[in-house]
Amino acid sequence: MNLDDLRQKLSFPLDDHDPDLTTQMQQRLLELGQGKFLQGMHEFLARYEKGDPLRPSLPNKMQFLYMRDRQTFSFALIPELIPIAYQVGRLIGMAFDAPRREGVTLKEALESAIGVAEAFDYGRQEVVTVEESFAVYRTYECSDCYGMPNIGMMICPYEAGTAAGALEMTLGKPVRVVEVKCCANGDPYDEFEVYVGDDDAD
Ligand SMILES: [Zn+2]
Repeated sequence: MNLDDLRQKLSFPLDDHDPDLTTQMQQRLLELGQGKFLQGMHEFLARYEKGDPLRPSLPNKMQFLYMRDRQTFSFALIPELIPIAYQVGRLIGMAFDAPRREGVTLKEALESAIGVAEAFDYGRQEVVTVEESFAVYRTYECSDCYGMPNIGMMICPYEAGTAAGALEMTLGKPVRVVEVKCCANGDPYDEFEVYVGDDDAD
């Protein structure tokens, strides 16, 4: 196996909103571990937010580069994983981010969770523009990419996908989130464009 072959195998068109794929991924998560996977993950997060120690002798917070190197190296070596990570991010957003959001309009849905990233030490987020079905938001000091050298890549598909999944659940409409600026692309912060509805979904 050479790297190009591996990349070629992972290179295929992937819809932003493939309803069958989304349903199958949701179903798979519900079935994992005889239904204990999602429930257990929710319980673990609830304990974190309560401040309970999650491990017997080590703290709940850790050096974040250790965790992000896994995705950074994955995306740098195999960029074809980025759209797959976006789809996985959507499921994370539906499970963990959507319950933190409320509202009927895009503005309400975006602003209702704008403090979550900072509360989790992920980054500081700011809504730059918000219209009925389009918005722009930024992440400053993003844990996924801040401080990286310019490798000419946008490497925060988990963030984009998580936001898309959460907004889709909250608004009940298809949402596409596109990373347009990234610290790994020479930009000083992350910037994301949000498109709501089928019309703008490609
Ligand atoms: Zn980024």
